[in-house]
Amino acid sequence: MEQATLVQNKSEYSVATVGNMADFGGKVFLKELINTTGMEVSIGSIEAGQSVPFFHSHKQNEEVYIFLSGEGRFILDNDEIAVESGTIVRVAPSVMRRLCNTGSTPLQHICIQAKAGSLEGYTMTDCGNYAPV
Ligand code: ZN
Repeated sequence: MEQATLVQNKSEYSVATVGNMADFGGKVFLKELINTTGMEVSIGSIEAGQSVPFFHSHKQNEEVYIFLSGEGRFILDNDEIAVESGTIVRVAPSVMRRLCNTGSTPLQHICIQAKAGSLEGYTMTDCGNYAPV
């Protein structure tokens, strides 16, 4: 299986899967697969004792990292913070960042990247009358 597979693709929505997250390894970017137009989304898994081998920053995009499992250290410019399952971190575009897995299990995370300052008004509709499909 590819790292991510498109399951359903309509103009209204796209569905994809990476399979069981417990078996997921590596990193996959989803923008092209699911046709996002305002954000990039990636899923990453860093093996125990491993680190992303480089620092990076962005010109215009902020990122939100949502940690699903594992334990690690997130180096953010001159700071270093602990992250674990449930930690959510927003990172401004210019911040140099690097993730390190300091635990004994994979450090899995979702990264959502969007242009800083681009969020405009959005509509929330009461979903109370909709039954789950
Ligand atoms: Zn990034």
